[in-house]
Amino acid sequence: MTRNDKTDKIRVRFAPSPTGFIHVGNARTALFNWLLARQKGGVFVLRIEDTDLERSKPEYERNLIEDLRWLGLDWDEGPDVGGEFGPYRQSERLAIYHQHAQKLLEAGQAYYCFCSQEELEREREEALAKGRSPVYSGRCRNIPLEEARRRLNSGQQAAIRLKIPEEGLVRFSDLVRGEVEFDLKLIGDPIIVRSTGMPAYNFSVVIDDALMHITHVIRGEDHISNTPRQILLYQAFDWPLPVFAHLSMVMGQDNTRLSKRHGATSIDQFRREGVLPQALCNYLAFLGWSPPEGKEVLTLEELVSLFDLSRVNRAAAIFDYDKLYWLNRQHIKLLPRSKKLELALPYLREAGLVGDNIGPAEEQWLSQAVELLLEGVDKFSELPQKFSLIFDFNPEALDEEAKVIINTESARKVLKALVEKTSALSDFNYEVFARLTGEIKKETGIKGRDLYHPLRVMLTARASGLELDKFIPLIEEGARLKFPRPIKSSLERIREFASLLGIEPAGKPA
Ligand code: GLU
Repeated sequence: MTRNDKTDKIRVRFAPSPTGFIHVGNARTALFNWLLARQKGGVFVLRIEDTDLERSKPEYERNLIEDLRWLGLDWDEGPDVGGEFGPYRQSERLAIYHQHAQKLLEAGQAYYCFCSQEELEREREEALAKGRSPVYSGRCRNIPLEEARRRLNSGQQAAIRLKIPEEGLVRFSDLVRGEVEFDLKLIGDPIIVRSTGMPAYNFSVVIDDALMHITHVIRGEDHISNTPRQILLYQAFDWPLPVFAHLSMVMGQDNTRLSKRHGATSIDQFRREGVLPQALCNYLAFLGWSPPEGKEVLTLEELVSLFDLSRVNRAAAIFDYDKLYWLNRQHIKLLPRSKKLELALPYLREAGLVGDNIGPAEEQWLSQAVELLLEGVDKFSELPQKFSLIFDFNPEALDEEAKVIINTESARKVLKALVEKTSALSDFNYEVFARLTGEIKKETGIKGRDLYHPLRVMLTARASGLELDKFIPLIEEGARLKFPRPIKSSLERIREFASLLGIEPAGKPA
């Protein structure tokens, strides 16, 4: 068999083990494979490596398929879509592995190993004590196959090991890491099938990659030490090698492996936070790669056309949350209004700010509010907090900054003037506010920050937030609409604040 004898296409695969949620390192591996396949008109295969029966769970497989699809990746062959070289779940391929192990046994390239765990452990400790590397001694290497089969028939258990040369080097050229070599003395005959009958990872992965005609193996660098064992297997079967590309590990800012300590790490967490899939893909692509012209905000289509495996860097990829959230803000800006609302609603509902049924006027208002309040938001989960500017007005719980702003003589003058001028009003809007502010400025001589900051605090009970020319129209309109938590109008706010401060409009009895 020659590599790719079926087709000239590039064939890549993503081969996750369904033992947990898919995290950014694995998602980056999936993305790089997908980008290469899509750019070159190749084939992207999804293969589920579920031979670890204890840790693999069908729900993890479902989650990872959901996460990959959410990211915008699709595959041409896989457990859910089928394909010419299936099945695509390793647990359904056990007969194929056994058949191939038998071939190696018959050819004298593999042998049954009857050593018990205890014996192997003892051997390991002895080797370490003598300062030798703890490789398998090869004790069962020369047991004739006939004798081994008799022992198996009589009920003994055995693993199967690959017979590898005792000396020499395994060399390969890695697309990312360059020339790599391993000393065979440090390897020892690897187990290819365990005594339980389950294939070892190094064995099943080679059988599958070869039978699925994989041309490029792109995966995390944590697998680089497995690669010589895998190469020896390709050689044993006389199969051509795929191209290998090992991607550097994803680290936190402190240069340790990215983990929960650093923040969100699974795709599912980022999705729940309200990071857009296009922003996450954009950022994941930058973990070890950068486009030639330095443009940063890229769509999936742009990534497909720009991606270049030969530009992938071997240095550790540092995960920079700020950069991810910056990219997310840029991608949020590119969304149409209706999409922003659609993505915002689940968070607003969860926070109890909107109900299940929304009338058309409320929907229109929400769309405008989302548009305004999304400004500067890192991720959608921050929106309810932003909306509290509108839904929560609590002059009794001012923060220090707001307290300082209103506790000056000039601020009191301004507030009192606004209270006076609005006391007889029943209607309010931004034009009225602008006119009254002009009058207050003229009458008191107070202007700029000294004028506007106290007014902002009176209307919002906060020291900062939306510009008032945007805020006032929003709450005036919002106050007429139906929401689970009603929105207070400007006049209600001014009166509530005034009574708390003990400001009474002139002419009203104290
Ligand atoms: N199942 C392996 C993992 O999830 C895949 C390794 C490979 O790509 O060869 O790490």
